[in-house]
Amino acid sequence: MSLSTHQQNLAKIAVAIGVNLQAGQKLVINAPAECAEFARAIAKAAFERGAGDVSVKYSDEHVARMRYDHASTETLTKVPAWHIDRLKSMVDDGDAVISIHAEDPDVMSGVDAEKVKAAAVALNKAAMPYHDAIINNRIRWCVIAVPTVGWAKKVFPDLPDADAVSALWDAIIKASRVEGDDPIANWQAHNDSFNAKSDFLNRHQFKAFHYQSKNGTDLEVGMPEGYIFTGGAEAAEDGVIFFPNIPTEEVFSAPHKDKVNGTLVSSHPLVYNGQLIDGFRFTFKDGHVTDFHADVGEEALKSLVNATEGSDQLGEIALVPYHSPISEMNILFYNTLFDENASCHFALGSAYPTCIEGGTDMNEEQLKNTGLNVSATHVDFMVGTDDLRITGIMADGTKIPVFENGDWAI
Ligand code: ZN
Ligand code: ZN
Repeated sequence: MSLSTHQQNLAKIAVAIGVNLQAGQKLVINAPAECAEFARAIAKAAFERGAGDVSVKYSDEHVARMRYDHASTETLTKVPAWHIDRLKSMVDDGDAVISIHAEDPDVMSGVDAEKVKAAAVALNKAAMPYHDAIINNRIRWCVIAVPTVGWAKKVFPDLPDADAVSALWDAIIKASRVEGDDPIANWQAHNDSFNAKSDFLNRHQFKAFHYQSKNGTDLEVGMPEGYIFTGGAEAAEDGVIFFPNIPTEEVFSAPHKDKVNGTLVSSHPLVYNGQLIDGFRFTFKDGHVTDFHADVGEEALKSLVNATEGSDQLGEIALVPYHSPISEMNILFYNTLFDENASCHFALGSAYPTCIEGGTDMNEEQLKNTGLNVSATHVDFMVGTDDLRITGIMADGTKIPVFENGDWAI
């Protein structure tokens, strides 16, 4: 089986738009073993663009699962030196990194959650310099998604394996804007639209946004002074523009953690720690969740809200039009890269320091003082409906429509 033109276009877009690979630059590809054919297409596109070198690190989620089943916690929390050396050399050499996400959402079900948590904490701690480099865009990176049988069967459980994979491919191609004669032009136009929206929102420095929908949402979200909306492309430390996520549809910022009041009703189900939460709503008072309900999965919702410090306060406000390619497909992807981009959403938990002026130079206390939420958790949930209205309220009380009938009004 060879890749279709659209699939090859996705590989090219990841290289040219995603990490914006420069002549002579090295590229690292992180890929599930199942996605080897696609990793090869990325390597080909990279060399055609003048890559200095390309290396692929393959992973296998089934072996990862075996490790949790058989290796001891002591072993799993001891991060090998070669792993860290590899990350360090990537950052030091200024390599570009493309990561393919294709997890089967159920592959870890039944695994000892404490073991997974301990291994993740150890890895995060050991890999801190690398994660730091990513958060501060010191290197250019991009996350894309490619179907595997396990993931595709979760999304399309009623289809035979091959059909499920091909249906998921179709959805990814559509969502990733690689159709038509000139996918690069699609992405340039897409980015112009992100810039226009962010500029408008940043210029107005709204005091608050008022959300209203006939599903019961009636929420005022206060904004911190000096907030920054961003979306689409980002500039790396060296000034080169790149797209960390393909696809992407959101323009996002950080709300003021203590100035959220009213009722917020979800529009889509949420999968949290493998559990489905649906038909849920929150009541906010002075930024905190004071009441909540879920038709399905209320216990999981409770553990989400009470998880840790800051998990009962908002850390992200994201605007996504109801009529975007992803949301119009009306598919639950079980993959944040897609589900987060299907609808206007908020996140309970931490804010991105990049969402406030000077934020990347602030410590936790300073971030909190500006109104940004600091927490060990960050969970997105969707609130976009076809009748969602969002009104921007300026400091002098002037009201400006930002969203009407679920779509941008600016
Ligand atoms: Zn988001
Ligand atoms: Zn988020």
